[in-house]
Amino acid sequence: MQQLSVNGSRLWGTLVETARLGATPGGGITRLPLTDADMAVRDWFVAECRDIDCSVTVDEIGNIFARRQGQDNSLPPVSFGSHLDTQIAGGKFDGTAGVLSGLEVLRTLHEAGYRTRAPLELINWTAEEGARFPPLLGAGVFAGAYELQWAYNSKDPEGIRLLDELERVGYRGKEGTPGHKLGAYFEIHIEQGPVLEAENKTIGVVVGARGQLWYDVTVSGLQGHAGTTPMAMRRDPMATFARIAAEVFGLAWAYEPEGLATIGHVEVTPNSRNVIPGCVSFTIDLRHADKALMHRMDDELVALVDRIAVGGETSVELKKFWTVEPMAFDARCISAVRNAAEQLGYSHMDIVTGPGHDALQVARVAPTSMIFIPCEHGISHNEAENVKPEHVTAGASVLLNAVLAFDSVR
Ligand SMILES: [Zn+2]
Repeated sequence: MQQLSVNGSRLWGTLVETARLGATPGGGITRLPLTDADMAVRDWFVAECRDIDCSVTVDEIGNIFARRQGQDNSLPPVSFGSHLDTQIAGGKFDGTAGVLSGLEVLRTLHEAGYRTRAPLELINWTAEEGARFPPLLGAGVFAGAYELQWAYNSKDPEGIRLLDELERVGYRGKEGTPGHKLGAYFEIHIEQGPVLEAENKTIGVVVGARGQLWYDVTVSGLQGHAGTTPMAMRRDPMATFARIAAEVFGLAWAYEPEGLATIGHVEVTPNSRNVIPGCVSFTIDLRHADKALMHRMDDELVALVDRIAVGGETSVELKKFWTVEPMAFDARCISAVRNAAEQLGYSHMDIVTGPGHDALQVARVAPTSMIFIPCEHGISHNEAENVKPEHVTAGASVLLNAVLAFDSVR
């Protein structure tokens, strides 16, 4: 099949154009969902899609679907998209690059007069970032992970209800309950990590999502004087914490590069330089992309904490707080992305996503995969977020050809 390419300078132009909506003095964007800035970019998006003969519908949670007719419109649409909302003082590419790459795909097909078999659907999901309302909200309602009423009643930090904002900005759609059938879903996103740049690859073929295990640990001992209590007579929770921490990192190193461990929060009581603490509580975050290996890490963590705790001078309580199972994307969608990158001559590697994305919700109900492009130094959720124009062009061209390949083999 002949490879089509998108118009990279037009795509970059739309990124620059929409970055003005919610622009911050520091060069980023603050475009929280269902604010005036979000309304402005939504209105812009809808007008641009209608301009290239797409019909636009909005569902009851405000997800926007721009549909381009195919030859057989009884087929479920091959879809792609991301989110136009941002973090507070977020970057110009997180989410936006995905939606605007999708728009560029539709513009390229419109210009070429190319008619796909199935209809295509470009989607802007409502409230992906958790900066104002719960994260992955629109895609989560669409995929049935969240109840519509629960989403409507969620409130921002100022106590403003989502439903009221949805109605205020005019994006509470009347087109029925969220969740129609999709033939497939593809999403381009910046990597938000440093791997592609370090490996000098243009395209990340995202094969799945890392699972997560979160624990809360409390170590209790006996508070005492730092200058009088002999080492042998101490019940020092900090000493136990140090042993557990060292072994947790050892565990992750045994499973690297996919295994990850983070101790990101530690509370020491009373937290005074000349007092042996009475209590140290902390969090452990373990991650792995493979389900079996993630659960083996889980077992090993429980065993190592037991080994350190049993017969020790302190008492240790380990509580699991949260489990997210690893997710594998659809094999056919993954191949479509990998083949497109290969045929276009872009360097690529398989990668898993650490952050959550709309695609992880959609994957519950439709064959799904993602395309990552490198971002400078892996920096994201930051005004300094930056990407190379040629990488955005490459990602959008891979999206275009993955969509066409998926469409042609059905
Ligand atoms: Zn994002």
